[in-house]
Amino acid sequence: EAAAVSRIGLAGLAVMGQNLALNIAEKGFPISVYNRTTSKVDETLDRAHTEGQLPLTGHYTPRDFVLSIQKPRSVIILVKAGAPVDQTIAALAAHMEPGDTIIDGGNEWYENTERRIVEATDKGLLYLGMGVSGGEEGARNGPSLMPGGSYEAYSNIKDIVEKVAAQVEDGPCVTYIGEGGSGNFVKMVHNGIEYGDMQLISEAYDVLKNVGGLSNTELADIFDEWNRGELESFLIEITGDIFKVKDEHGEGELVDKILDKTGMKGTGKWTVQQAAELSIACPTIAASLDCRFLSGLKDQREAAAKVFTEAGLKEEVATVRSGIDKKRLIDDVRQALYASKICSYAQGMNLLRAKSDEKSWKLNFGELARIWKGGCIIRAVFLDRIKKAYQRNPNLASLLVDPDFAKEMVQRQAAWRRVVGLAISAGISTPGMCASLAYFDTYRRARLPANLVQAQRDLFGAHTYERVDREGSFHTEWTKLA
Ligand code: NAP
Repeated sequence: EAAAVSRIGLAGLAVMGQNLALNIAEKGFPISVYNRTTSKVDETLDRAHTEGQLPLTGHYTPRDFVLSIQKPRSVIILVKAGAPVDQTIAALAAHMEPGDTIIDGGNEWYENTERRIVEATDKGLLYLGMGVSGGEEGARNGPSLMPGGSYEAYSNIKDIVEKVAAQVEDGPCVTYIGEGGSGNFVKMVHNGIEYGDMQLISEAYDVLKNVGGLSNTELADIFDEWNRGELESFLIEITGDIFKVKDEHGEGELVDKILDKTGMKGTGKWTVQQAAELSIACPTIAASLDCRFLSGLKDQREAAAKVFTEAGLKEEVATVRSGIDKKRLIDDVRQALYASKICSYAQGMNLLRAKSDEKSWKLNFGELARIWKGGCIIRAVFLDRIKKAYQRNPNLASLLVDPDFAKEMVQRQAAWRRVVGLAISAGISTPGMCASLAYFDTYRRARLPANLVQAQRDLFGAHTYERVDREGSFHTEWTKLA
């Protein structure tokens, strides 16, 4: 047998695996690759050749693949989450030895990772669940990496992942996240936040287009301009680009020809389920998930549009539009988007904090914001501010009360309320912006109508209540007194 020369191995050569393997090879780490369907091994070898004679070797059986890697071996798996990961582990682990490491880079449910950690430990293997963000482009040129699990396993590949990850001015976009399934959990919440960002951007587009009457050309210019300010981010940038693309098959821009039905793969739903599980309010992320559900009901929406007479609504829109100062609307929408986004991130970070407390993961929120500054889909200049907020105060109860963010919220409130109010009057739904505003307005109030809910609960269920003016728990025979 030939001497094992590869520093690391990667199994699963679809979009993500192929690109990550080439990235690792390009950074100077000899890598072995394997895929169940062997044609993808050849494809990857071809690319390694044409993209610069990269140090990558292809293998056609799990055994040859595993034995081609230096000990202690580290093997990244990038296959479909769920059963395929178990099947791939079974095929590879048969040839691995104690001290070797399995790294699952997929969007895996964190509890699957925790189960596999136990199974791997029984065999003497180390395990990491590593969130990978940035899509195809990120995988090839620098993703954001969120590895959690065995710290020893992380130490074995630290030099590799630090070179392979996206690089920003304060370091590579990777850090050891914590134990267990923390890496997958953090990636899941990252995706939930991504749902929120995309929803909020689509609402800004909706208001500008349908209330402001902006053309795609104007929208492209505005998003390009926004991308030079506080909203600068990957999603704002690509949105500006999308508005410029003409339709190859007809008149106008492609964006107007795309069916308004959103797909999804599950990480957003998991985020909202976890939020409910942990009693953490994540209304902006939940609203973005609900919107994806509702977008799927295209036929029903078309039928309902007829019932609720588009004509009537058109009058509403026309009335609102007639009083619009376009320039001011654009500026207001920018501020509404920014303020809504802060609320959404506050929710995501608080969900992470609750899980971290439950699982004793000791997540470092400043570090999480830092590794999201580059490589991943939610990368944004704004994340540096979040990083600094948590560096100032690692125990920050909410981003909303960080002094800098609080000041920004105060400055943007009026514009934010104008946009949401205008959209409501025009009958244009802005569920994400409304959810964020309601979250803010609920969080910032010292007294809520929850006293009445407590009274009702005590009346019908003797659930008792506390008082504002004395200690203890009380029950009243309400019906006798009424
Ligand atoms: P994918 O479409 O999720 O999966 C395809 C890969 O899985 C192929 O290599 C396929 O092998 C393999 N596979 C499926 N079932 C298998 C089984 N039973 N046994 C062995 N191999 C099996 O690939 P992807 O889009 O590159 O994503 C990989 C992972 O990264 C997923 O967890 C995904 O959620 C995550 N991710 C994706 C993106 C993205 O932008 N695409 C971004 C971040 C994270 P064959 O070729 O033999 O069928």
